Amino acid sequence: MRQQETMSAQADCRFCGTKLQHTLVDLGMSPLCESYVSAEKANQMEPFYPLHVYVCDNCFLAQLEQFVSAESIFSEYAYFSSYSDSWLQHAKRYTEMIVKRLDLDRSSTVLELASNDGYLLQYFVERGIRAIGIEPASNIAAVAAKKGVPTVVKFFGQETARELVAQYGQADLLIGNNVLAQVPDLNDFVAGMKIVLKPGGAITMEFPHLMRLMNENQFDTIYHEHFSYFSFIAVEKIFAHHGLSLFDVEELSTHGGSLRIYGRHAGTGSVSDRVVAMRKTERDAGYDRIDTYRNFGEQVKETKRKLLEFLIGAKRAGKSIAGYGAPGKGNTLLNYCGIRTDFIDYTVDRNPYKQGKLLPGTHIPILHPARIMETRPDYVLILPWNFKDEIMAQMSGIRDWGGRFVVPIPEVRVYP
Ligand SMILES: [Zn+2]
Repeated sequence: MRQQETMSAQADCRFCGTKLQHTLVDLGMSPLCESYVSAEKANQMEPFYPLHVYVCDNCFLAQLEQFVSAESIFSEYAYFSSYSDSWLQHAKRYTEMIVKRLDLDRSSTVLELASNDGYLLQYFVERGIRAIGIEPASNIAAVAAKKGVPTVVKFFGQETARELVAQYGQADLLIGNNVLAQVPDLNDFVAGMKIVLKPGGAITMEFPHLMRLMNENQFDTIYHEHFSYFSFIAVEKIFAHHGLSLFDVEELSTHGGSLRIYGRHAGTGSVSDRVVAMRKTERDAGYDRIDTYRNFGEQVKETKRKLLEFLIGAKRAGKSIAGYGAPGKGNTLLNYCGIRTDFIDYTVDRNPYKQGKLLPGTHIPILHPARIMETRPDYVLILPWNFKDEIMAQMSGIRDWGGRFVVPIPEVRVYP
């Protein structure tokens, strides 16, 4: 059960403590984006919280105030990583790369923070490498355990780090994919990573890149579960503060454009050319100046107007519109734009946990993907646009009746 927990108004930067006074974007009030509504609760009140992102003028960390405790968000979570084929492919390729790069073998220990349903660690287990997951959502951890991935059901921070070291020793490889943004106590989390990392060990973390979010208008990736939005400049400062240095960085296409950072204990070795280049790219683009962050809000409003224009035009022309997917980002988009069943008849999702429920806030019903083939809508609005190629390939059958795909971000595009 999720309960409202009124946190004290935290108007200070979660990393450096500076007073937050600059708005990056204000998306108004929105429900928690993973709080899917069951049919029997359809008539009950839903809590809405502000989605107002600030940027710190000292460390340039973009961030939301925390209104709901991490326990109430993540203790029962609906996101199962293994429902995406392309994400599994990504995990498999990463495993092959990192095992080779770090020379991992049967004597190595790999820890993953927020290991979800074991989507990644299963590939280490296959190779006989000891892999331990840390995952706060017990329903998801249970699925990982069935795959043979031992999973500790806990939130991570310095205290859990000490317990892990006592029980398993320190890690040769510490992984955190799409978790850093979701950590309310960022300093405790990164300090915990320092504790659990073996001397000579490596950290890799992936998270959406703020520069891509802003350049490509991905405001729908802002939700209450994502407390922080990182540039390389900001994340490097945070790691350095805790005695960790970033020695390499890669740009990935996942989640609309992510960074994969490589960290280790500070004071060892030099940094890659890619680190030097990334620092320069962000400085040249002005990510170390507050002015750079001022125009994003207007760009977001314009995107809303364009999407509504398209939907109104389609409805006036008598067209039917279905959604594809029920991702968190879809809920930010639909709530911010005020799009409900007046535009979208229903959406579909492959995740059976979501089928039969309603989208939070907008109450658009979530059905099985087969429904699209039965009802033959004129347009299918792809909400998880980061998987658009995969989805358009899977759903290519809609072309049989002249159906077309619509992708809302970075701008409204219709695919014949
Ligand atoms: Zn700050």
